[in-house]
Amino acid sequence: GKGAAMVTAVAYRLAKQHTERQHVLDTLRLSSAQLLEVKRRMNTEMNRGLDRNTHTNATVKMLPTFVRATPNGTERGDFLALDLGGTNFRVLLVRVRSGKRRSVEMHNKIYAIPQDIMQGTGDELFDHIVHCIADFLEYMGMKGASLPLGFTFSFPCQQNKLDQGILLKWTKGFKATGCEGQDVVNLLKDAIHRHEEFDLDVVAVVNDTVGTMMTCGYEDSHCEVGLIVGTGTNACYMEEMENVELVEGDDGRMCVNMEWGAFGDHGELDDFCTPFDHAVDERSANPGRQRFEKMISGMYLGEIVRNVLLDFTTRGLLFRGRLSERLKTRGIFETKFLSQIESDRLALRQVRSILQHLGLTSSTCDDSILVKEVCAVVSRRAAQLCGAGLAAVVDKIRLNRRLEQLRVTVGVDGTLYKLHPHFSTIMRETLRELAPQCEVTLVQSEDGSGKGAALITAVACRLRDGAK
Ligand code: BGC
Ligand code: MG
Repeated sequence: GKGAAMVTAVAYRLAKQHTERQHVLDTLRLSSAQLLEVKRRMNTEMNRGLDRNTHTNATVKMLPTFVRATPNGTERGDFLALDLGGTNFRVLLVRVRSGKRRSVEMHNKIYAIPQDIMQGTGDELFDHIVHCIADFLEYMGMKGASLPLGFTFSFPCQQNKLDQGILLKWTKGFKATGCEGQDVVNLLKDAIHRHEEFDLDVVAVVNDTVGTMMTCGYEDSHCEVGLIVGTGTNACYMEEMENVELVEGDDGRMCVNMEWGAFGDHGELDDFCTPFDHAVDERSANPGRQRFEKMISGMYLGEIVRNVLLDFTTRGLLFRGRLSERLKTRGIFETKFLSQIESDRLALRQVRSILQHLGLTSSTCDDSILVKEVCAVVSRRAAQLCGAGLAAVVDKIRLNRRLEQLRVTVGVDGTLYKLHPHFSTIMRETLRELAPQCEVTLVQSEDGSGKGAALITAVACRLRDGAK
């Protein structure tokens, strides 16, 4: 009768909507063949970045870090560390003890970097940093002390020595003027002089990936890779000096800061990108740049999700087709919400309350299921891409050493990696599939970037003082 016909019509409409949604989500799903291709292209870019003749045009810059030696346990002393470029800005005092009581003790204080300072002038930014250091020294009762300092500065820097870092480009929403092309050590020193209160001996500029690798390497000598999946993403690893063509000398190894976030900036990822990726990129602080990072890291995943939800809603496939102002607001989906929504322990009712908390009040139960699925698809792709990149790295190390099988440890840090319930599992799966000849142990590093900067500073001081 008529009722049955209506039921059929509704069922038909629902099935059609389901197909339409899956169609969209499929564009965010990557096959094994595609992931293998990502690994292959990453490898190509790595070689181009290392090669003197192609370096300038390579997207993955493979920057020499001048970190060659790892801690041997004899370093000691008090060091200051700064950590700029992650979720928080921190100042740290790190006490390194040698010998039998070999240990690292840390005190730190977190400071906010207000948006207007992140995007103001370089002088304002560095004045603010020096202000924070002064406050910290006072807080620790160390006013006037002049300690060796390691500066974890988590942005792409060209280095010709350890205590130099010429900022190539800001990433992750930083925009302070007058810094690109400048040595951040000079910017810091100038600000210290303007402040006229204390002096600091800047010994090392360190990328957070390198700090993380070093911290982990302090405990585990197999640790030769550092990985960050937080606000941004990046990796570093120990490369053979003969392949590091930008630096003289063929002996031993040097840690290379890959800056893999920029992979894709010449179109290497275009065939895997969706309209959602383009939307996120176009409205970011740095359109056209850091394309790999924008598919992986915490600063952008929520935005990809939001764009998918916007699209679904516009097509009447979600939130009863009602576009709220909230949903149109950039940045409402922070990493921590993604992680919460995807948590297995969470009942749908709770997903709904998170959505409500975000101001997306018109959601139904089906909406909650769908939002959760969108989050899962977006974060799975991120973890797989990250795994594909890492597969390229560990396989390169293996081939460098002409090994059939490689055992290697990767030190990992970053809020997304640490908070997300499935990211590390999926990344491991991808690694196993794409680099079967590498046995990779992933170790979460605690406070890697700050501690690592201090350890690198400690090693540099040991070598410097030893040479005297
Ligand atoms: C920066 C890297 C950094 C990474 C993780 C990227 O945006 O370019 O230098 O290691 O974020 O913090
Ligand atoms: Mg950090």
